[in-house]
Amino acid sequence: MMQVDQVVHVTLKERLKEIFGYSQFRGDQEAIINSILASRNTFVIMPTGAGKSLCYQLPALVTHGTAVVISPLIALMKNQVDQLNAFGINAQFLNSTLTKAEMNKVKKDTLNGTLKLLYIAPESLTKEENLDFLKRANISFVAIDEAHCISEWGHDFRPEYRKIRGIVDNIGDLPVIALTATATPKVQQDIQKNLQMENADIFKTSFNRKNLYYEVKPKIDAKKQLIKYIKNNKGKSGIVYCLSRKTVEEIAEVLNVNDIKALPYHAGLDPATRMANQDAFLNEEADVIVATIAFGMGIDKPDVRFVIHYDAPKSLEGYYQETGRAGRDGLEGNCIMFYSYDDIVKLEKFNKDKSVTERDNARHLLTEMVSYANLGTCRRRQLLSYFGEYMEKDCGFCDNCLKPTERFKVQDEVVLALRAVEQTDERFDASHIADLLTATDNQYVTSYEHNKLDVYGKGREYNESVDYWCSVLRQLTILGYIDKDVDNYGVLKVSEKGKRYIEDPYPVTLSKDHNYDQQIADGEEE
Ligand code: ADP
Ligand code: ZN
Repeated sequence: MMQVDQVVHVTLKERLKEIFGYSQFRGDQEAIINSILASRNTFVIMPTGAGKSLCYQLPALVTHGTAVVISPLIALMKNQVDQLNAFGINAQFLNSTLTKAEMNKVKKDTLNGTLKLLYIAPESLTKEENLDFLKRANISFVAIDEAHCISEWGHDFRPEYRKIRGIVDNIGDLPVIALTATATPKVQQDIQKNLQMENADIFKTSFNRKNLYYEVKPKIDAKKQLIKYIKNNKGKSGIVYCLSRKTVEEIAEVLNVNDIKALPYHAGLDPATRMANQDAFLNEEADVIVATIAFGMGIDKPDVRFVIHYDAPKSLEGYYQETGRAGRDGLEGNCIMFYSYDDIVKLEKFNKDKSVTERDNARHLLTEMVSYANLGTCRRRQLLSYFGEYMEKDCGFCDNCLKPTERFKVQDEVVLALRAVEQTDERFDASHIADLLTATDNQYVTSYEHNKLDVYGKGREYNESVDYWCSVLRQLTILGYIDKDVDNYGVLKVSEKGKRYIEDPYPVTLSKDHNYDQQIADGEEE
């Protein structure tokens, strides 16, 4: 059992002020801190910038002993340790960059109880000598930052993260607080299962970032569009994400030639240049950082005014994370993605050498991303629906809301689509249902004898295109008539709302998909 100083306990808010200088807890912070102080396993799912770090930093300071913080990146650890030291807190990290003497000091401070937070990478945690010393230390609790690294279904899978549970058990009977900004229901379940914390206290806040504006543009003359946009937003800070190091270099140069102060950032640059470019961006010596996704984790620049994806991202999780770096101060934040199917083909090529499971997963993530780009439905509703959050209405603050694609009304089609989901025992994904409705050749339709169902081929009476039916099914999911099964990605089930609909249908308004390829072929810039 953790020993909490009672006097300190009742004055968490005073300690918040005294140590960090903040007068209020944000959102669920206080409840989360109380949960871990009560030695309960705690699972925190909050978007980037919500203030997750404080949820383990403050409890670490009001308990006896040392809190162990597991973090995936040395840069992240260093960042936090520097910040905490600036607040006068004894926090240190243990990783391969330390000298023997530094390492001994960390161990000494831990064993004599003066160290309050020990940051450690999962690789270091598995080392025998570290484990031995942790067993001898007085550890208050374990915090697992970026906990989505546990899940293969997330976007930053780290195999060593899966060993954490075993190691923690080895150290002792310790409460665990896991934190992540990414949790589709599937990733969330995976984390809880792997950490054996199914009955943890869960704190999940809305992923809606109301101040962010989302837009997707066809990738036509993208460089010209990019330059124009940045010039129109002169003096504002922004991030431009590209897929490859080569594109990063190229775009940074194009921007410089056009009198825009931009610097490149990617893993191929030497660490000193990388650090210097990052600092120049943070200190406003450069307005724009052009980067691969290597840039951003743990970066806390509150006034990033735009995040532009020059190339399409690999997943919606990634997209949400990266765009989440805009407008952290709650003010303006524009998120623009340039999209073309060519980029998707490129991304698919990356998956060629992966194992079958990995490839399937990567393809699934990419399909979701493509669907996000193509659908004419409110972007925010789509994003939130992807994270398992239902929105009652369109947001009115995204390109699809402000410049809607053509709308159309359907009723019989909705009933038909919902019945098809029901008749296949709710065990198939949208593309299977679309094939079934259009009687499109598909070995599974035949092997499951779905060609004998009365809905088979019935969709053709309304529309013969598989894409049309996929779009309808996806839109019905976002509108809450269909649920996606969390255990089995992509599998559709008729929701309560959908069941009521079949009994008592009414006209539903859907949006036509975008046709970027046509626009690109025509060279229209809208
Ligand atoms: P996350 O890990 O969720 O992305 P951080 O822990 O980096 O978020 O916090 C984001 C920012 O919010 C930081 O600058 C942090 O100092 C600040 N912050 C956290 N909690 C509070 C609070 N209660 N009051 C004011 N600022 C806070
Ligand atoms: Zn919208």
